[in-house]
Amino acid sequence: MKNTVRVRFAPSPTGYLHIGGLRTALYNYLFARHHNGKFILRIEDTDQSRYVENAEQDIIESLEWSGIKIDEGPGIPGDFGPYRQSERKDIYSKYAEILIKNGAAYYAFDTTEELDLMRERLQKSGNPSPKYDSITRQSMKNSLTLPNDEVQKLLESGAEYVIRLKVPRRETIRFEDLIRGHVSFESKGLDDQVLLKSDGMPTYHLANVVDDHLMNISHVIRGEEWLSSTPKHIMLYQAFGWDAPQMAHLPLIMSPSGGKLSKRNAESEGIPINTKDYNKLHYEPEALINFLAYLGWSPGDDSEIHSLDELCRLFTLDRVSKGGAVFNHKKLLWYNEHYLREQPNLRLAARVKAITSKEIIKQSDDEFLAGVIGLVKDRVSKLDEIIDMASFFFEDPEIYDESALKKWKEDSTVLVSEYRERIQPIPEEKFEAVTLKKLLEEVIGEHGVGFGKLMMPLRIAVTGQGFGPDLFTSMELLGKTTVLRRIDTAIEKIG
Ligand code: GLU
Repeated sequence: MKNTVRVRFAPSPTGYLHIGGLRTALYNYLFARHHNGKFILRIEDTDQSRYVENAEQDIIESLEWSGIKIDEGPGIPGDFGPYRQSERKDIYSKYAEILIKNGAAYYAFDTTEELDLMRERLQKSGNPSPKYDSITRQSMKNSLTLPNDEVQKLLESGAEYVIRLKVPRRETIRFEDLIRGHVSFESKGLDDQVLLKSDGMPTYHLANVVDDHLMNISHVIRGEEWLSSTPKHIMLYQAFGWDAPQMAHLPLIMSPSGGKLSKRNAESEGIPINTKDYNKLHYEPEALINFLAYLGWSPGDDSEIHSLDELCRLFTLDRVSKGGAVFNHKKLLWYNEHYLREQPNLRLAARVKAITSKEIIKQSDDEFLAGVIGLVKDRVSKLDEIIDMASFFFEDPEIYDESALKKWKEDSTVLVSEYRERIQPIPEEKFEAVTLKKLLEEVIGEHGVGFGKLMMPLRIAVTGQGFGPDLFTSMELLGKTTVLRRIDTAIEKIG
């Protein structure tokens, strides 16, 4: 291991930060913090055709929202910048030339038509996936087949070219993956990867390797989908004569219905795919982080709840699993409920006020709203659900829930009216849950009926719903005047 741990999250700004990307960033961050190392954000934006405006900003904001702090990156100065690959263009062409001098790469002058012809020819002769490789390169237009002076002439005349990696014909490329153990690939299946494109821009492979080296990256921790690129990278490290960083490829995130969690199947399962959506939908960032940490890793005991700081302390790569991790949305909601309930009611009150469109809740008294939240927060999974569940504390029911109404039976009006008479004399300041409950027990006792017989219609009258937080405490919070008014309206409308 290099002395200091330096890891990077290296997204391409081709879209918003996907939750899979967030998990990769998180594991890198946890690993860095665990080893007192640095977490670097590098923007891999060399493919201009796939560039998405605002994607970089979204990545940075999403990391910030989730509590992941960047040590070096665009806008965060460090000794290894710039951290946007588009600002490092000259570096890559210099290193591509070094590979040519080493004999590890070569110029290729083939036009698109010539490449198409080669593929067609090979397909016709029974090769289903033709490659530009150690065999085909011999009949193509490149600096390995053309005489030197012709190559020079072409270069001087400004002819278009790419630089390709000279992949050996038969070689086994081996490396140790910290998660997968020993990995090997046969060079036979690889093509002579383009390293520098005709517009002078590097491909992912060249830029990635050069930057990981120049930025002193000690560990490359990335998704399994990059495993097949790693042999190319290992060849590049060897060609440059550099030590490769240690590699760790994370398991895929799987959809509950099977297969990799893609944008499409996430949507059909109601799973938000972009980190930003979790923010918009009012998930708790601590919950998402705790959940994602366990999506492919566990500390090896049966603990489940850990703050980001604790995760930093606990995280090790040897406890990351090899197999795909299934995204369990219910589990995420379970985490969300936990982190929501942990928050002080007054703080939740401020957050509810900030997101609600209901003016009456926005203007409400903080202490009162906090009391309401204390009553309902055990029954919701997300912050925004508090608003629906708490609304009856602020507005008399205008309509009554239809399925709840079915519970208003023939004797309900009599029972509710009688209860109303019992609670009417209670002084305003003594209108308390215990008393309200005791009086209800009296009424049902006298009528010889079960609890629900009165409880259900009373709940409908007071809240408009068939379910909700503890009714007696709710009535206490609402106050006598409101409760009596709502009962009268219900008897008039329903009874
Ligand atoms: N730019 C690649 C991506 O979009 C980086 C892969 C890597 O970490 O090497 O994920």
